[in-house]
Amino acid sequence: MPLNVAVVGSGLSGFYTVAALLKSAPDCRIDVIERLPTPFGLIRGGVAPDHQKTKNVWRAYEKSALQEAVRFFGNVEVGRDVTIDELKRMYDAVVLAVGSPLDRNLGIPGEDKKGVFGAASFVGWYNGHPDFRTLDPNLDVKAAAVIGNGNVAIDCARVLAKTPEEMATTDLTAYAAEAIHNAPLTDIYMCGRRGPGDAKFTNVELREMGELLDCTPVVDARQLDEGVPADLDDRDRRLRERNLETLREFTAQTPAGRKKRLHFMFYASPVEVLGGERVEGIRMERTAVRDGRAVGSGEYFEIPCGLVIAAIGYDGTPFPGLPFDRKRGVVVHENGRIGDGVYAVGWIKRGPTGVIGTNKHDGDLAAEQILENGPAGGKPGRDALEAHLRGKGVRWVSYADWKKIDAAEIAGAHAGAPRRKFSSVEEMLALLG
Ligand SMILES: Cc1cc2nc3c(=O)[nH]c(=O)nc-3n(C[C@H](O)[C@H](O)[C@H](O)COP(=O)(O)OP(=O)(O)OC[C@H]3O[C@@H](n4cnc5c(N)ncnc54)[C@H](O)[C@@H]3O)c2cc1C
Repeated sequence: MPLNVAVVGSGLSGFYTVAALLKSAPDCRIDVIERLPTPFGLIRGGVAPDHQKTKNVWRAYEKSALQEAVRFFGNVEVGRDVTIDELKRMYDAVVLAVGSPLDRNLGIPGEDKKGVFGAASFVGWYNGHPDFRTLDPNLDVKAAAVIGNGNVAIDCARVLAKTPEEMATTDLTAYAAEAIHNAPLTDIYMCGRRGPGDAKFTNVELREMGELLDCTPVVDARQLDEGVPADLDDRDRRLRERNLETLREFTAQTPAGRKKRLHFMFYASPVEVLGGERVEGIRMERTAVRDGRAVGSGEYFEIPCGLVIAAIGYDGTPFPGLPFDRKRGVVVHENGRIGDGVYAVGWIKRGPTGVIGTNKHDGDLAAEQILENGPAGGKPGRDALEAHLRGKGVRWVSYADWKKIDAAEIAGAHAGAPRRKFSSVEEMLALLG
């Protein structure tokens, strides 16, 4: 009797789990259940549109998706169309791979003003995620502040800074391209409450900011004096020192006729979003790092801006019937086991950290634990799921259906671009008839 496994979520951690299961238990049957009609989670909806090389990792996941043992059930939301308890009755094992879809709040007055967005929404908007396509940020602004010193903050700043020419070979959605490229934006402020030696950007992403066609990085050389924190291991120290070197190189750049400036502002913590109904600026407090913590100095300054993007981290969301750690934004588990044949992988297990490859270990471990639990329990698996979905009138999207959407996106691309994304579920379902 085959082992029947349901993987909830078709992002990286979900597909790493599928690959690990196929390798160690080739006779299992795996159903990947995804709330969107499109697979691959943040590879499609998070990774920046101008980083197509990174996005191309989907090709490896497609190899798994096309295996006879694997079925994709897109447009099926667990919690709405089928519950975890129902899945537990249908499958020998259920793997939760649902990521961390929410934004962490800044927690400061005024953050509910129009023009303030979390990175999950803003990135989702430019990447055509159906949840955010109607975000409609007003980009008729001269200045934007991006709060955060990680790669997501850099992605947001870079997408705002690049020219139409630089974005021509990307899958930036047409509506976002129109809004961004017609914006009168000249100044982007990227603010971190700690120093440059603490910044989490990877060096490749940081260096890219010095190679933009129409944007100059602006760095205050005096902020580079403090070096890197003392308590780092050798690898981290080397990475951070490389970042400092790159920032030093930036101090030598001159605008040379470029329209936009990207201001790196370290030791600056947001305390209030200013303005009336809409954001007009952000009040910042200068900080100093003491014993590894950023502490306020009591000295304040203001950045006038019409757009604020908070890229300070993502948060998970509780699943009915599963224990949730509100503080960490993850499901409660013991080394990935939630209990009772249910496992967690990826961001909903670890929190929103790490790179693509970090999720592989979770997938390998989940597969190992599922197999350790012994032989299949004779549960019906996909036959039961299909019957359930039919009974509820759910139009699920198979992998073959997704390939039709994929083909239409590729066919609709302008010259040089990889695809023209559909961003509405209705549009995609209409295409499938
Ligand atoms: C903006 C951004 C850019 C990034 N860029 C890079 C990069 O360039 N390089 C890099 O190495 N890493 C990058 N990362 C990190 C990388 O994307 C994550 O490590 C990875 O996506 C985490 O995988 P996951 O499977 O946990 O979550 P996700 O990729 O988010 O997948 C979760 C999936 O579950 C689905 N889902 C959610 N709820 C349900 C439900 N109830 N029912 C069914 N399905 C559901 C979602 O729709 C989604 O498809 C980036 C992250 C972000 C946020």
